[in-house]
Amino acid sequence: MLDAPIASQTKVYDAIIIGAGIAGIYQLYRLRELGLSVRVFETGSDVGGTWYWNRYPGARFDSESYTYGYSFSEELLQDWSWSEHFSAQPETLRYLNHVADRFDLRRDIQCNSRVSSATFDDATNQWEIALDTGETHRARFLITAIGPLSADTMPRLAGVADFKGQSFHTYRWPKEPVDFTGKRVAVIGTGATGVQVIQTIAPLVGHLTVFQRTPNWCTPLNNRPISDEEQRQIKGSYPELFALLRTTPGCYVHNVDPRGTFEVTEAEREAFWEQRYLEPGFGIWQANFHDMLTDPKANALFSDFVARKIRQRVTDPAVAEMLIPKCHGFGTRRVPQETRYYEAFNQPNVNLVDIKATPLERITETGIKTSDASYEFDMIIYATGFDAITGAFSRIEVRGAGGQRLKDKWADGPKTFLGLQSAGFPNMLTIVGPHNASTRCNIPRCIEQNVDWVTDLLRHTRDNGITRFETTPEAEADWTRHIDELAEGMLYTQIDSWATGINSNVEGKNVRRILQYQGGAPAYREKCDAVAAAGYAGMVLE
Ligand code: NAP
Repeated sequence: MLDAPIASQTKVYDAIIIGAGIAGIYQLYRLRELGLSVRVFETGSDVGGTWYWNRYPGARFDSESYTYGYSFSEELLQDWSWSEHFSAQPETLRYLNHVADRFDLRRDIQCNSRVSSATFDDATNQWEIALDTGETHRARFLITAIGPLSADTMPRLAGVADFKGQSFHTYRWPKEPVDFTGKRVAVIGTGATGVQVIQTIAPLVGHLTVFQRTPNWCTPLNNRPISDEEQRQIKGSYPELFALLRTTPGCYVHNVDPRGTFEVTEAEREAFWEQRYLEPGFGIWQANFHDMLTDPKANALFSDFVARKIRQRVTDPAVAEMLIPKCHGFGTRRVPQETRYYEAFNQPNVNLVDIKATPLERITETGIKTSDASYEFDMIIYATGFDAITGAFSRIEVRGAGGQRLKDKWADGPKTFLGLQSAGFPNMLTIVGPHNASTRCNIPRCIEQNVDWVTDLLRHTRDNGITRFETTPEAEADWTRHIDELAEGMLYTQIDSWATGINSNVEGKNVRRILQYQGGAPAYREKCDAVAAAGYAGMVLE
């Protein structure tokens, strides 16, 4: 409940959306179609979300470009030509700007506006949001479109502020060009981001030192430009393509192979894996044998295959061993897609430091000190990742009915209904929220599903004069239990990663949690549709 009276300058909208990334842009488009008054608040100085912030060298898709764009407008699909099978960040950011302009969305988007708090007012059934500037706005409905990987985290190391050279977190990469010529550069972190940075800057820098705590299983992206003939084919078959994407678990073009690893001969298995290694994209992860991510023996066998590839590609056997994961199997963490990543370590100007063996101790004025050496650098790049999935929620002071804090409610892990609502937080919808299928998905496909579902709900409330809706604690408990059950037997749940809620840079993020829906996007879509078809079963609408 809000204590203070509504300030006279506070504006009241039908809906407020937080975030102008892929989700926020599309949600605005849909709600405007419904005739609602909508305001989007965005921290950045422009639209684009993840593609606005992640300007680091080498940032690019690892979903096929033409599967990633919005599917809602045939004119837009025909209008836009992707230049590569896996487009780079500048092109994707141009695309999102193009969408904002084409549909005249900017007039309802307020940039440079970080939402610091969101508070539900029980008396009026409205949400009030406050910006960092102190400005306040109100709306009947609050929709968070804040992204699963938008709360960047820095190592908790002494001396970070002391470093006199240039330093960047990859998420906060500057808009101005960064010159690497002749520089001594450090990269901390070897997740999907670190891998893209390392392979891109290795040929540009004077010297590169990579500080690796945990190696990852990386496989080739096999990117290439889209030819004119391919462009014609792509534009001529969008309906079939999107129909296909609706049938695969992750909404990729890749679908899991129905065969088990041990149902084929060794020769067939090797040939299949060789073929997958040469193909573009995530097929090697998403279209592997069906038991690869559940049967430890199958997983170990395929991990051996990838280890052999790494040994073939890295000249120094000791470096190759450092780059081969020993504590987790292939695909149990997000697979970084690479382009000559392993070959970067064959360059004489690149060296790899194992910081599990010799931990980072501190950042100094001139570089980095580990337990056994001091290194001097001109630049330090932190590719150290995110407080994933729930982190962006924690950075906003969200208070629901009766003043309950979302942070407190989710302290022992999120509790949600469909990954889209949480009991006690009426009229609030969480696009790409925890327990949602979208963080294991070719994300725009799942975002469109989330947004369309939310739009239908808001249409229903408008048509029926409903001013307040909320999921019941029972429905929330059932969904949360369902999430846990689906994850049973998945090898990834036994591994530390952002997907299991682990982040050494955040206090308390040292307990593994199930944060994602594991049943695949088609099953998730069915569940959401069934709730709507049953008149929003599991929710109370007043
Ligand atoms: P990440 O996967 O969480 O990787 C962070 C890296 O930094 C890890 O190697 C981690 O080591 C290391 N690290 C973190 N804190 C550290 C510390 N205090 N000291 C030493 N090392 C530390 O983050 P990310 O690479 O930014 O990727 C996150 C996700 O973003 C990806 O999994 C993917 O979903 C998405 N992404 C997508 C694309 C794309 O679509 N092409 C590209 C980039 C990222 P540990 O592993 O030991 O914790």
